[in-house]
Amino acid sequence: MIKENYDQILNEIGEDVTVIAVTKYHSTEESLEAYEAGVRNFGENRIEGFMEKREVIPRDGEMHFIGTLQSRKVKDVIDDLHYLHSLERKSIAKRIEQYAQHEVKCFIQVNVSGEETKHGLEPSAVKDFLETLEKYSKVKVIGLMTMAPETDNEDEIRNCFKTLRELRDELSETYPSITELSMGMSNDYKIAVEEGATFVRIGSKLMGR
Ligand SMILES: *Cc1c(COP(=O)(O)O)cnc(C)c1O
Repeated sequence: MIKENYDQILNEIGEDVTVIAVTKYHSTEESLEAYEAGVRNFGENRIEGFMEKREVIPRDGEMHFIGTLQSRKVKDVIDDLHYLHSLERKSIAKRIEQYAQHEVKCFIQVNVSGEETKHGLEPSAVKDFLETLEKYSKVKVIGLMTMAPETDNEDEIRNCFKTLRELRDELSETYPSITELSMGMSNDYKIAVEEGATFVRIGSKLMGR
């Protein structure tokens, strides 16, 4: 089933967009099934899940942390962390610099929709935040991440993704390494890809309910 889902998603979005299998509600067996189906990028939003999955995913699988990370937990995940999607505090960058043996590719999480329940910086705060990160050589900011608003209104969702893309375009003039957009989940990844997503984070649609 995961194989069929994955092939269908690849058919829809093409090979240029990286599909991250969000395995947070699924077992290590199901994660390995996704690996067998060709998935090479895995996302978890909790430390426990991240540790459990990284133990079984073969070495060419890349691990993405997509949830809120507490600074005191950075050292627990750092050795196997390829991508962090939720950078929004300097304290996290500081810990990465302190513990990482390698560069960590990071997305700044941006709260485009303004919903209070959502994490992330206000769009207008990203530029200043990037300046504070310049001294951390192991923190490599490669792009921006957002979550769409809780709505069925496609225009609102599209606008959110579009705003993130425009912010990326603007910032990349000063920071050429900022090229990526992590946006789109099971219900909205097609819109996200139309608006320029380069990474989509897909849970239920790929892994099953
Ligand atoms: C759970 C989660 C996803 C995937 O959600 P689905 O709707 O199951 O695709 C993507 N991104 C983040 C940050 C998540 O927490």
